[in-house]
Order: sequence, then structure tokens, then C-alpha cells
Amino acid sequence: DAGLMWFRRDLRTEDNAALYHALKRCRKVWCVFVFDTDILRPLLERGLRADRRVEFIHDSLIDLDEQLRALGRSTGTEGVGLIVRHGSALAEIPRLASQLGVQAVFANHDDEPAAKTRDAQVLGTLAHDGVLLQTYKDHVIFERQELLTGNGRPYTVFTPYKNAWLKAVTPFHLKAYPVQRYADALAPCPAQVSPGVPALEQLGFAPTNLRALKIRTGSRGAQALWEDFFSRIEHYHQARDYPAVKGPSYLSVHLRFGTISIRALASAAYAMHLQGMAGASSWLNELIWRDFYHQILANFPHVAQRAFKPEYDAIRWEHGAHADALFTAWREGRTGYPLVDAAMQQINQTGYMHNRLRMVVASFLTKDLGLDWRWGEQYFADHLIDFDLAANNGGWQWAASTGCDAQPYFRIFNPVSQSEKFDPQGKFIRRYLPQLAALPTPALHAPWLAQPADLQAAGVTLGQNYPQPIVDHAAARQRTLQRYAVVKPSQ
Ligand code: FAD
Repeated sequence: DAGLMWFRRDLRTEDNAALYHALKRCRKVWCVFVFDTDILRPLLERGLRADRRVEFIHDSLIDLDEQLRALGRSTGTEGVGLIVRHGSALAEIPRLASQLGVQAVFANHDDEPAAKTRDAQVLGTLAHDGVLLQTYKDHVIFERQELLTGNGRPYTVFTPYKNAWLKAVTPFHLKAYPVQRYADALAPCPAQVSPGVPALEQLGFAPTNLRALKIRTGSRGAQALWEDFFSRIEHYHQARDYPAVKGPSYLSVHLRFGTISIRALASAAYAMHLQGMAGASSWLNELIWRDFYHQILANFPHVAQRAFKPEYDAIRWEHGAHADALFTAWREGRTGYPLVDAAMQQINQTGYMHNRLRMVVASFLTKDLGLDWRWGEQYFADHLIDFDLAANNGGWQWAASTGCDAQPYFRIFNPVSQSEKFDPQGKFIRRYLPQLAALPTPALHAPWLAQPADLQAAGVTLGQNYPQPIVDHAAARQRTLQRYAVVKPSQ
């Protein structure tokens, strides 16, 4: 039989579930990636021509094409490579399947609602031609309804989910798929479907500052990051909360696009966790959060539009011209709260934001500005290079207290004390807000409380080269308590 491997959020050859099954089952296998215009056109229509994710994918595909060619050469087959299409996947996959005369298309699961709709349509079109669509778990350790509570329901609280995860995991779940073993099924591309990756400009996109940021792409980039993090993982639990410190792994973009295998990472972290390494346990915990939010999205797809807890849909968020102005200030890092503003500079300049800061700015948007969490969620979706619907939605709903959180009612972060606690020397703030760099550290966390002499000496004029705070935290806190009072917490 002949098969077509359709790469989506799994841009690697090593330990790739669908690729493994395709190669094992078929005598001849071709590989394709589709730059899906159903996803890309809306970005272009909204003017997002320079998108770091598109460039990340593009560069990672060059790496993937090389990996496939190398696998082909390892078995003595020339002409193996990645076929790249630019068009709607709904049409491109069935067309290519028929051109190549395959009996089955292989892909890994993608449980985002739009992806599920797409896959159902592709499955229907393929079935019409007698071609199968075979899909596999690859992106997480446990998916969908693999872990259920004693009552047979999906978990909605993290800690019991985590306990169930740790109890259920076995070496089988963490084992790599030995793709290389069946590489001789990789077939040379016929003349009419030559492999190779088109230039970014041919797709209608422009280069970004990805290279200037030294963000390394593809499996090789992921491997280099992982090796670097491996040498620091034992300190992760102590370093992870301080945005000025190189504490986390920065692997999120690679996990998002599958340039590294979750099984490889989880099995390494799990082995170190079993040896009692606190940093590894803490990091494994984050990988389990990732699985947790993926199963939340798969089992409760309404979260993509509405509050996880329906009673929270009763909250009335601010709206109108004033709300729009507050939102603009938040987006542009002009709130007058330095940690919030520095964090927004980080996402705007680099497409990444430290986890602690994601929580701080999300809390600020919802609890200090009284704005709908979906506004912030969409902004992150447009700007994060590691944007992942499941994790982003989970994070926003957690911060807005509308989602999965064990806390009985809701928390309101104080942006000044968060700043004092997690950027105690103001290093992160100074990096992203150079106009405040000369302020003494205590004043850096709340410049409006600074001595006039200190402001003057540092060359800071509030309202001119740095804003006055756009809200008073204490007053905003009271308004939030009232706003949330409409919610009758369900037990
Ligand atoms: P590390 O600390 O090294 O963690 C390792 C990996 O675990 C991450 O790469 C990520 O895959 C996973 N992970 C870590 N924390 C979480 C979490 N809370 N939920 C789910 N997975 C997690 N993460 C995304 O990958 N994409 C998003 O779009 C996203 N949006 C977020 C929005 C908000 C409001 C919040 C509070 C968090 C969001 N996160 C998101 C989770 C987290 O902030 C990032 O995964 C993390 O900062 C990425 O950096 P890292 O790879 O260095 O993480």
C-alpha cells in the first residue's frame, strides 16, 4: 500500500507517531505540509504579514525537509523530501492523495475545534475516493478521555488530574516511536510533485525579527535549547518565577509546533523526578498542566468562546470608548505600572512572555481594567510565537477566574507587590523600560510614589516620558469585587 504523511503540529521525523505508523504500514510513503490558506488568509486580511509563527514554521520545514532527505539517503533512496503545498488543506490533501494514488493519509491528532472540523471534512472527502484518514495521539502523553475520574468524567481540577497522570504513566506512554527502523518505505517524489519549501514571500508573508532574536527553529533548534535547559533543570523550581533570570526552558514554541517530542521531554523529566530532583518534578508539573489544558479543550470545547464555568458569563465587562482606550494602553505597555508595561514590551518585541508575567498582565487586564478576558486572549493569540489555543485559553480563564482553578472564589494580583516580589532588583523592568532605568529600585515598582527628587535625578517626568497609572489598584479592586458579585459560585 501507499500512504501520505500529513505534517501539521508535529514538524519532526524523530519519534513521530503518525510517521512511524505510515512507514510501518505502507510500502511507499510520501510526506506533505500544507500552508493552509484557511488559516493564513485571515492573518493577511488583518494586516499580520510579518508573523513570527509563519517564519518559524517556514524555517522548521527546511529542517524537516533535510531530515527526510537524510532518512531517505540512509536507506539508499534519492529524491525523498517534503512536498509543500500552499492552498486550502480541504482541497490540497485529497488532491495530492489522488495524484499519488495512496490508500491512506496519516496524521497526528489536533483537538482544536477548527482543526477537528477540518479533519472531519478531509476525512469525508477522502472517504469518497476510498482513501482512509488515520490519526494518532502524538502531541500529549494522555489525551481526550484517557484519564477519567472515578465517576467516569473528565478531570476539571488540576491536582487530582496530576495525581491520576502520575499514577497512570508507564514506560509505554513515554517510549519513542522508532521511525528510523522503517525509513526504507520513504519514497522518492515523482516529477510532477517535487519536494522543497517555497520562500516566505511566495506565501505572501514578510520576514520578522526571528533571526535577530536568535530564535532557533526546527528540531536542531529544539535540541540545542533542550541541552541548554538540561544543564539548568535542577534549579528550575527556584528560578522559574523570576523573569529577569534564565529559569524556564523556552521550549514552548517547539512543543507547539512539534519540533521536539513531548515523550522525549516527559520521559527525561519523569526519570529525574523519580530520582527526587525537585527542579525536574516542578518542570514535569508544567508538562502535566499542558496535558491538562489539552484535555479540557478536547472535552469542553465551549471554552474557546465562553467561560468554562457558565455562571461567569454573567459578568459585565467594561465597554465603550474608555474601555477601548484602556485596552490600547495595555497593549502598548502604557499602563503606568512598570512590570505590566515591561511585560507587554517583551511580547511586542519578541513574541514571548515569561509565565509569571502572563499571569500578571492577564490579571491586570481583567481585574484592574475590568476588560473581557477574551480581548487579552485574542491579543496573545495574535502575538505569542508559542500561541496554543488550549494553554492560552486555560491561562486566561485561570487569570480571569472563569476557568479551572481550585481556588474557591477568585484572586486579584497586586501589580506592585508582584513586581517587588518577582523582579526585586528591577532588572527585567530596566531591560524593557530604559526610560526608567536610572530610578532607584524601590521607585521602579511604583514610580508615582517616588520622591520628586528621585524622579528628577533619573530624568523621569510622569505623564511625559512615562505614564501616570491609568487606574488606582485599590479602587479597581473594589470595582472587581462588585463586578464578580453577580456570580453565584456553584459548589
Ligand atoms: P517552561 O516553564 O519551561 O515549561 C515547559 C513547558 O510546559 C512549556 O513549554 C509549555 O509547553 C508547558 N507549560 C508551562 N506552563 C504551562 C501552563 N501554565 N499551561 C500549559 N502548559 C504549560 N503556553 C503556551 O504554550 N502557549 C500559550 O499560548 C500560552 N498562553 C498563556 C497565557 C496565559 C494568560 C498564561 C498565564 C499562560 C500561558 N501559557 C501558554 C503557559 C506558559 O506561560 C508558557 O507555556 C510558558 O511561559 C512557556 O515558556 P517555557 O517554554 O520557557 O516554559
